[in-house]
Amino acid sequence: MKDKFIEQFKERIVSIILTPVFIFFLWSLQQLTNGLYGKIEPIILEHISKRLLWVVVIMEAVMIIILLFVVYILKPKGMSLKYGIYWDKDKNPHCPSCKKPLNSYDDYGINGIGFYCNSCKLVHPMSKKGIYLTISDARKIMDNM
Ligand SMILES: [Zn+2]
Repeated sequence: MKDKFIEQFKERIVSIILTPVFIFFLWSLQQLTNGLYGKIEPIILEHISKRLLWVVVIMEAVMIIILLFVVYILKPKGMSLKYGIYWDKDKNPHCPSCKKPLNSYDDYGINGIGFYCNSCKLVHPMSKKGIYLTISDARKIMDNM
């Protein structure tokens, strides 16, 4: 639930940043290519140089490429979030934070029952409606979905 919220929050942030940049980029391209540019060109050139205008357009293009790359990284490839854990197509568990494969499901005492991520140094519990699940239970439930 919390991980899903964080994931949605990340996507929301990226779309908030991406949308105006993309719209401005399209607007800039349109301004540069259509006849209207001829009319406003003297006004623009009065304030900023043509070279600077191109630098702005190129920077926007680079920003869009970077943002698309960020979106691609943030989106877990072929993985679905269930019981607080990411699962790949072969039903292997992955860390909800760093998305690296998890394998050691155990009782870690005060840290709780769950998967221990070697990268995050955290125990990620796997539960359904507050009930702890074993790996085989989770796989069985997913097989029936
Ligand atoms: Zn991790």
